[in-house]
Formats: sequence, structure tokens, C-alpha cells
Amino acid sequence: MEYEAVIGLEVHAQLLTESKIFCGCSTKFGMAANHNTCPVCTGLPGVLPVLNRRVVDFALRAALATHCQIAPVSRWARKNYFYPDLPKGYQISMYELPIAQHGYVALDLNGHSNRVGLTRIHMEEDAGKNIHDAQSDASLVDLNRAGVPLLEIVSEPDMRTPEEAGAYLRSLRAILQYLEVCDGNMEEGSLRCDANVSVRPSGSSTLGTKVEIKNLNSFRAVEKALQYEIQRQSELLDAGGRVVQETRLWDADREVTRSMRSKELAHDYRYFPDPDLLPLTVTQDWIDSVRAALPELPAERRARFVHDYRLPAYDAEVLTTRKDVAEYYEAAVRAYPADPKTLSNWVMESVLRVIKDEQLDTGLKVTKWPCPPEHLGALVRLIGEGKISGKIAKTVFDEMRRSGKTPETIVAEQGLTQVRDEGALAAQIDQVLAANPEKVAEYRAGRDKLLQFFVGQAMKATQGKANPQMLNELLKKKLSVDNQ
Ligand SMILES: [Zn+2]
Repeated sequence: MEYEAVIGLEVHAQLLTESKIFCGCSTKFGMAANHNTCPVCTGLPGVLPVLNRRVVDFALRAALATHCQIAPVSRWARKNYFYPDLPKGYQISMYELPIAQHGYVALDLNGHSNRVGLTRIHMEEDAGKNIHDAQSDASLVDLNRAGVPLLEIVSEPDMRTPEEAGAYLRSLRAILQYLEVCDGNMEEGSLRCDANVSVRPSGSSTLGTKVEIKNLNSFRAVEKALQYEIQRQSELLDAGGRVVQETRLWDADREVTRSMRSKELAHDYRYFPDPDLLPLTVTQDWIDSVRAALPELPAERRARFVHDYRLPAYDAEVLTTRKDVAEYYEAAVRAYPADPKTLSNWVMESVLRVIKDEQLDTGLKVTKWPCPPEHLGALVRLIGEGKISGKIAKTVFDEMRRSGKTPETIVAEQGLTQVRDEGALAAQIDQVLAANPEKVAEYRAGRDKLLQFFVGQAMKATQGKANPQMLNELLKKKLSVDNQ
């Protein structure tokens, strides 16, 4: 039977605040175990949480950027469960009154525009981390992460293919990165994703039994795990079996999902309002001030690039996925506004390739650009003005990276002007030959001495800058009888 998948994603984004959500401890990554802790985030008796206002600012940014409705009053809830990395025995989260609901993320997949609905966005605290030490056979607990603020972003089950789920996750990450609320690094766990997936016969409108997949720590893992799970469920149904509602873990090494536990239901967590925290009130003024400070977002910037720079949709997509790449590109265009498309090619083919090959970026920022954007603009200007060819420009680009010098300096120092470039020189020669058809005919009839005449003319045309050896060779080739 033909099946259709129904996919929804739950994303946890670690927020880039300097301190934790309910205490003043640092959120700095990579500190000694339990260094960033205090009585509040270690859950000692008698302490009270104090909300970090900046966490709410960040949540509002994300909610407005994804077209959500903001709740004027929302409420903190305790999600109760036992685990060694959760010293209080409960996680402070939001339950029946989240801060934002009913939003969407716009997608552009293979030229088709689409929207994935957002059910809700809420804030919560992260738990600590259990470390299982194989050497001492001990389980250790590090509470540095306990109380680090998270946004949970829950989508509607609007996606039908793993590819669409990947596109949604990439779009969402780009939005969070543009807002500078999350660095979006999945490998380091600052963006985590769980997927809910079920299958149903194509054309059916009833939902099948869903399975939750955890441990998806890369875009590749999300897409691969969904592919695997859709196939597993389809084959199970074809064989007359029944899908069990459960939580499964993605095993990236073996590329399979395996059963972890039966799915917990909301009542398992005994949610109730947190008596230590007041309901959260967000005034219209607060919302307005956050909205006024929102940056241009990826979708808007993509549309502007297509319109202002006449770029193909593909280029605009690649250039705007990351804010810093988009800004780099625009700085290069400011340096040389005459040819945005050639600049786009250079950024996509050369700059981004070097960044990828040499891993010059962290989650949110490129740490070291191959060259300043102004130098790239100057390089493309040299091509546009006919001073160097595209081929020579690749050599100049490599040298720019190596030495940090401007392209003009490199071209002058190394005599890389176009007269040493074969393509440009050939064009000059063609003009000389076209202007002297009788002499060409005489040469081809046997007057070899005329070669010097052509060399002289071509040399004059290049203002004496041609490489004589190359000029001679090219002329001989073009004047040969085979080339008539
Ligand atoms: Zn603390």
C-alpha cells in the first residue's frame, strides 16, 4: 500500500543569555564541572527562583519572528520527574498557558512556498548532565547546564516528507540565528530536535499511531531517522502489524531507531502551576519594543536580494541562510555595486568553499573570513574592468588569502594584468588580424616575415604590456593555415 507520513518536530533551542533563567549563574560553556552553580540551580531547600527578563525578551523575539500570538498572561508549571541530573525533582516549564501560540514558519522547498504551523513556544529550564565514567564505573552529575534557558518550539504535524522536515528545521535555525537568540549548533546540543512521525494510507485523513524519535543531533540524523522510521512503520502495517506509541532512539552508527520506552503522557508528569513564580505578564508596550527592534529576517532578506540584486532564488537562499554571510555579501556589493551576480558566484564558490574546507566558522559566526569583503569587491571590479580575467582572478584570490594584500597590489606586484592572460590576448590578436585581412592572406601564402608586423601591432594594442613569448605563440597558432 502507498503510505503518507505525518511529521511534527519539537525543537529545544538553548538561549544565548549570559546568565541562567532563574539565578545569576553564568551559562558559559566548557567550565569545570559544577562551577556554574548556586543554591537555586542545585535545588537546595528554601531557595526561590527569580526570572531573568532577558529570557522573556528572547522568547518574544522568536515568537514575533514566527508570527505567533503572544499571551498577555502565561504561567510557569512544574514538570515532575525523577532523574539524578534534576536535583529539584521537577523542571520549571510552561504547560497549559504558554507564552506564544499559533505561529508559522514559511518554507521555500524546490520552488514551492509552504507554511509549517507552530502549535506553541514556551520557556523552560534545562536539566544538568549525567556523565557515565567508564574508567571508574561511576555515574557523575554536572549541574552547570541546570537552569540554562531553553525555548521549546513545537510544530503542528504539517510536514509530509523528511526533506520538508529538514527544510523546516533549517529555516527555523536561520530565524533563531538572525535573532541572535541561539547559536543553532546541533552537534553541541544548543539546538535539539525530537521528531513525531506516523504513517497513514495515502488519501486518508485519520492520523496513524505516532512514534517519537529522540537523539537527533544533526540535520542528517533528522532526515535519515525519519526515512528509516517511515519505512519501518509502512512495512509493519503491510505485514498486518500495529505501530506502538513509544519513544525510540536514533542510533546514528547503525542508522536504525530502536525502542527506548513507552511514550509518557502528560499526566505522567503531574504538571501543576509553580507556586514560587508569579504568572508572567507581558504588556503591549513590551511586545511593541521587541517588535521594533527585530532585525530583517531570512525570508525578507531573501526576497530583497532577488529584487535588489537580481539574483536567482537559489543564490539568494544560499547567501541569506546565515546572517553573517548575507552581511559579508552586501559589504562586497557596496565595494563594487556593478555586478552583484558575479560577486554572488565568488561568495558561493570561493569564499564559502574555503570556510567549509578550513572550518572557519562556529555555530553563529564565521571566525575568520578568507578575505575582507572590500577586497573581494575590488577583485571582481578588476575582472569587470577587464584588467584581469576570471582565471587570473582565482590566482589573485588565493594570494589574497595567503598575504592579506589587496587584489590591486597583488596584480601590480606580480604583473598579472590581462596581457599575460591568454583569453584576453587572443581577443586583441583577433582585432589586429581582422583589421589587416590582406596581410593575413600574404602571411598564409608564405610571407613568414610578416609575423613581426603582427607582433608589433598586437604589442601596440596592449600598450606594450603583452608577454612576448605568449604573443608569438598565439599569433602563430591563429595565423596557421589550419585556423582559417
Ligand atoms: Zn545558579
